Amino acid sequence: MKFASRVATTMQSGLDELFTAPDPELISFAGGYPDATMFPQAALQGAFAQATEESAAFQYGDSWGLPRLRRHIAQWLQKDGIPATAQDVLLTQGAQQGIDLAAKMLLNPGDGLVVEAPTYLGALAAFNAYEPQYYEVPMAADGMDLGALQKILMTHKIKMIYTVPDFQNPTGAVMSLAKRKALIALANQYDVIILEDGPYRWLRYQGESLPPLKHFDTQGRVIFLGSMSKILAPSLRLGWMVAAPKLLEAAAALRGASDVESSQLVHRAVALYLEQNDFDAHLDQLRQCYGAKLKLMHHAISAQLPAGYQLSQPAGGFFLWLTAPAGVDMTALQAQRLAPAHVSVVPSKNLTPSHQLLNGARLTFAAPPTAKIEPGSARLTAALAATATA
Ligand code: PMP
Repeated sequence: MKFASRVATTMQSGLDELFTAPDPELISFAGGYPDATMFPQAALQGAFAQATEESAAFQYGDSWGLPRLRRHIAQWLQKDGIPATAQDVLLTQGAQQGIDLAAKMLLNPGDGLVVEAPTYLGALAAFNAYEPQYYEVPMAADGMDLGALQKILMTHKIKMIYTVPDFQNPTGAVMSLAKRKALIALANQYDVIILEDGPYRWLRYQGESLPPLKHFDTQGRVIFLGSMSKILAPSLRLGWMVAAPKLLEAAAALRGASDVESSQLVHRAVALYLEQNDFDAHLDQLRQCYGAKLKLMHHAISAQLPAGYQLSQPAGGFFLWLTAPAGVDMTALQAQRLAPAHVSVVPSKNLTPSHQLLNGARLTFAAPPTAKIEPGSARLTAALAATATA
């Protein structure tokens, strides 16, 4: 059997390393899952039951998604600074399909692709299949290092920049307003597409929200991706792409050729859910829950963190970022110290295309039950302290 070259690049993504042998005692800070107790299960149950009353819920629809739901999403995005109408919204199977479609429509093998270092593992997995030439831009607390980006843009032809400006996966960083504007100016100057991935932007626990990059886009070069995964339920597989008509038409055609369309049943149920429930009130509940969990975990870890380690202080999203002293390999530390202590994190090694960032780790406070946060944090800091003195 001779696989296409994209199989090897995809298999090397490191996704498989996240799924290790089950450990019943494990407290996992690794998987970026929402808190399962926060799904509005009864309301969704009602919406799904009602949706099944129409035969159209079981029929083919169209590859753009249910028009009624596209309208709801567009109206909701308008409140968030994105001037979209229903026609500007393509519904996708989660933001993940949006990443894949953007890469599929824009990247030929060898095309220049800028990613933040570190970045979202699943995006690298999607990009790898299209065999881009990667360029890494280091992350700072206020978003990617634009000086480093400019150097790359001055010396290499870049087709697309992938960024998660709000509560970035994995660092939790938010791109500052000044950087948002400067990034758009650079993209205009160097004729680059920006892929803005924003699934966490509605999960801010303190401070004021900043407009999405798409808000500042006057030339139709920002592709904005959103998702219901973190704010409603990931199993719905409901995301959206907002982009200039030409880009959106290409994405819709590619998506039709790949998986035809999303489930009509899901689209109808989510439309009914949004029509019959107070979604903003649901979001407020999520913010309260996650804000409290973030505070608890940040306090528990920072109170016991050994010297030389640094913990980020995010204002939203799902993730804390831990930086170990230079020279520490978090992948090795996870295998040798954290796994035996029954606690897990996501080491930084697979979060850059070059696999050269070794001393970082992503920790989620969203998924673990509240009661596990302090014991898990204690296991983590004890294991780190034992390593520091070993
Ligand atoms: N982008 C980012 C930054 C993510 O963190 C995730 C989920 N972990 C996704 C996209 C994909 O999410 P989904 O396909 O479930 O919308």
